[in-house]
Amino acid sequence: MLYVSTRGAMTPNAFSEILLGGLAPDGGLVMPERYPQIDSATLDAWRAMSYPQLAFEIIRLFATDIDEAALRTLIDRTYTVQAFGNADITPVRSLEHELYLLQLSNGPTLAFKDVAMQLLGNLFEHVLTQQGRQLNILGATSGDTGSAAEYAMRGKRGVRVFMLSPHGRMSAFQRAQMFSLADPNIYNIAVQGVFDDCQDMVKAVSNDLDFKQRFSIGTVNSINWARVVAQVVYYFKGYFAVTSGNDQQVSFTVPSGNFGNVLAGHIARMMGLPIRRLVVATNENDVLDEFFRTGRYRVRSSSETFETTSPSMDISKASNFERFIFDLLGRDGQRVAQLWRELDSTGQFDLAGTPQFAQIGEFGFVSGSSSHAKRLDTIRQVHQRFGVIVDTHTADGLHVAERWREAGVPMLCLETALPVKFAETIQEALGQQPGRPAAYEGIEQHAQRFTLMPADVDLLKRFVAQRCGGVS
Ligand SMILES: *Cc1c(COP(=O)(O)O)cnc(C)c1O
Repeated sequence: MLYVSTRGAMTPNAFSEILLGGLAPDGGLVMPERYPQIDSATLDAWRAMSYPQLAFEIIRLFATDIDEAALRTLIDRTYTVQAFGNADITPVRSLEHELYLLQLSNGPTLAFKDVAMQLLGNLFEHVLTQQGRQLNILGATSGDTGSAAEYAMRGKRGVRVFMLSPHGRMSAFQRAQMFSLADPNIYNIAVQGVFDDCQDMVKAVSNDLDFKQRFSIGTVNSINWARVVAQVVYYFKGYFAVTSGNDQQVSFTVPSGNFGNVLAGHIARMMGLPIRRLVVATNENDVLDEFFRTGRYRVRSSSETFETTSPSMDISKASNFERFIFDLLGRDGQRVAQLWRELDSTGQFDLAGTPQFAQIGEFGFVSGSSSHAKRLDTIRQVHQRFGVIVDTHTADGLHVAERWREAGVPMLCLETALPVKFAETIQEALGQQPGRPAAYEGIEQHAQRFTLMPADVDLLKRFVAQRCGGVS
């Protein structure tokens, strides 16, 4: 399997070559040159498999230049009861007839990003060791992504993580999760500023190509292709959990921000998994909902991006969205490149009235948005009716899913975090605190380790250089 760019100007490249990279050289995102096709006999054979077996069968189709025995070992080491608390890894919970939660949040940081990131940690270590390379991951986080990356990379050979977060602006729980890690390859940097300052610092370092190359600076953000592929697995697992034969269709609802999670659903569907609808659920930041309703994709400025109580979906543009547009436009890289030039200069493009947008229904996508009031209301209703407490992002999904349920088609709503991560809003909705897994009792009292730093790019560079054995 070779990878091409959504903007059509990259020489096709192998999985292990694109694994550590970010954007394609032409500014696009990498995509497999075609989707493997899964026939009904193969689905039958996969139906009874364990999560690691299934993950191996799916991921090996995309990672064809990773040695199969090594891949199997990596996957078996990643998807364990110990790490995910359950042999099914992503168990399904029935709420009522034809309504299910696909539980993706039982990994080390209690959010769905662990499912992919845990594998990425092992894949990185394998490829870096093989190539005799080092990678220094530099990132900015306001919560979920940073902790998932740190828990995936802790103790891994050849990898260091430098994670910037806005000082004093994360929840006590999130701070404790990240700052209590004692692994010597993890560096938490608390920046005296807001999240945008952190992100600007990371961008400034990444734009210094000389520094970037000299210190092997990389990222693990949501455009990483291996993360997308790892997420494809649980769409198959969820499908098998609620059907008995391959003549049945199901729908999925996905709380969405950067479009990475639901893109994996799109890929599963393109591979032949019988998915009827992919419901994109947004919060008040409804860039994606607007597109699927109208055909207009209009990115927001930071002043137009709301801070909501489902903060991991507070995005102004969806970094993986270009991958879907590539498929929607019949994989016409030149057209994608032209649209993104338009987006860069005007902040939007509009596909309304085009033959391609008229056919968007063939891709199964529909959408809806939620709000703080609806979020609270959904958390209350779900608690009353089913005795289950869901987190704020999952609540946005459940709210939107309600509109798209159809008799005879099971609806699986993706649970993207556990409620303990957003306890304040649960308290507001229910007047009670959500439960907390035993391993997290008292985590706020553990010793914390971080470096306080002003929002100063030169200081950050010096900090990284000193720890990567260079002088600067
Ligand atoms: C990251 C995240 C999302 C959004 O996922 P995307 O892949 O960016 O669309 C939703 N919910 C939670 C809890 C998250 O951490």
